[in-house]
Amino acid sequence: MKVLNSMKTVFESRSVNEAYARCAAAAFLTCADPALDEVCDIKTAVSEAVTNCIVHGYRDTVGKIYITVKLMEDGRAVIQVKDKGCGIENIAQARQPLFTTAAEEERAGLGFAVMESCMDKVRVYSRLGKGTTVVLEKKLTLK
Ligand code: ATP
Ligand code: MG
Repeated sequence: MKVLNSMKTVFESRSVNEAYARCAAAAFLTCADPALDEVCDIKTAVSEAVTNCIVHGYRDTVGKIYITVKLMEDGRAVIQVKDKGCGIENIAQARQPLFTTAAEEERAGLGFAVMESCMDKVRVYSRLGKGTTVVLEKKLTLK
């Protein structure tokens, strides 16, 4: 499938940068003139994925977060959110609603469930000690 347009951005895993990340992805996709509700869903999913890199992936450290946004020929937006942090031991378990390793920080364990409800497809790749990549996919209604 042909990539019509793409962008990459790299930024530090500071919580102040979460707004930048979700707005940057949404701003790039304006080239496809997407519906407002689709943009809202994408911003919500990117926000959850980036927050996970910050609070879990890099925890008490600061590392780099890499985002790639691709607009495909068939109107799919494919967004990759990657960190080089601690990684996830058991991906299937991590994706279960209400599962969290940070209950003491009042995390609900709902981030992946939110991503899934907002997007058509959510793929997670992770290696302990190496990092995590979340790929979010949504078909945009092109006008
Ligand atoms: P919430 O998102 O509701 O605040 P949460 O972040 O714990 O809570 P999820 O976003 O669903 O819930 O993530 C579930 C678990 O997966 C996390 O508690 C964490 O253990 C693990 N996880 C998710 N993303 C990463 C990541 N980028 N690096 C390391 N671990 C992660
Ligand atoms: Mg989360």
